Amino acid sequence: MMKDIATPARTKEILNKYGFSFKKSLGQNFLIDTNVLRNIVDAASVSEKTGVIEVGPGIGALTEQLAKRAKKVVSFEIDQRLLPVLDETLAPYDNVTIIHSDVLKANIHEAIKENFQDVDDIMVVANLPYYVTTPILMKLLEEHLPIRGIVVMIQAEVADRIAAKPGTKDYGALSIAAQYFAEAERVLTVPATVFVPQPRVDSAVLRLTIRKEPAVNVSDESYFFQVFHACFANRRKTILNNLVHNLGPKERKPEIEEALDEAGIDPKRRGETLSLEEFAALSESLLKRFPRS
Ligand code: SAM
Repeated sequence: MMKDIATPARTKEILNKYGFSFKKSLGQNFLIDTNVLRNIVDAASVSEKTGVIEVGPGIGALTEQLAKRAKKVVSFEIDQRLLPVLDETLAPYDNVTIIHSDVLKANIHEAIKENFQDVDDIMVVANLPYYVTTPILMKLLEEHLPIRGIVVMIQAEVADRIAAKPGTKDYGALSIAAQYFAEAERVLTVPATVFVPQPRVDSAVLRLTIRKEPAVNVSDESYFFQVFHACFANRRKTILNNLVHNLGPKERKPEIEEALDEAGIDPKRRGETLSLEEFAALSESLLKRFPRS
């Protein structure tokens, strides 16, 4: 029986064999701890009927643990140098498909249609490249993919921002964007020693459970997103000031004041104190005064 990929010795052996040098610019920090990997797979509740989408297989450490538990794994890797490595390391598993692509440009709906016709549920599970954590998560959420959830290793600080509650220092546009689509929890804290090379930031595993319906009802999703982003453009400014300066040319102060009044929101409050429900009410009352063309 072959040793797991994610042991320090086997990882070293594979890297040496291929003369692989890490590219910092691609966020390459590989996991070398099988316990952490199993905890990630457990946190995602992957079963033999689950289809898994992975981002960035690296040399296959997490992919292998997913392949052992899932029905099928489809994994997007941007670095061409890793393709021959993965060919070898994942050869024992016939339920893995590697797609050579930048996940930000990939058609994930299409990949799901092609690969996951016969699964009960779909999860995204990944040890994400940290330089693109937010764009990847936002793409996965905004595309309304037919997934049950997302379990990812990310920077601890980003996990805290995503899971933050209103009124805390971490709460911001990213918390609202993620919590609109999903329930967010930080499920595991991980020391830098479980990676090679070790990242300079602390890491944590975040679980997002996709809601059946978004957390609040809005008639124009993209306007709602514009509204709460504008409210956080300058964290020290009041919500009124942020809206006047950052929402759009049509949105003028008197009508913004009316909209805030109608939504029952004090114009002197700051964005970080508003709940999702309040942002939704605000977005609706602004939309009434500034209809989209
Ligand atoms: N899953 C492996 C592990 O846990 O050991 C590697 C994780 S490493 C943090 C991130 C991986 O994502 C690297 O293999 C890197 O080449 C890949 N990657 C970076 N940017 C990517 C992108 N835009 N699309 C797809 N893969 C990417």
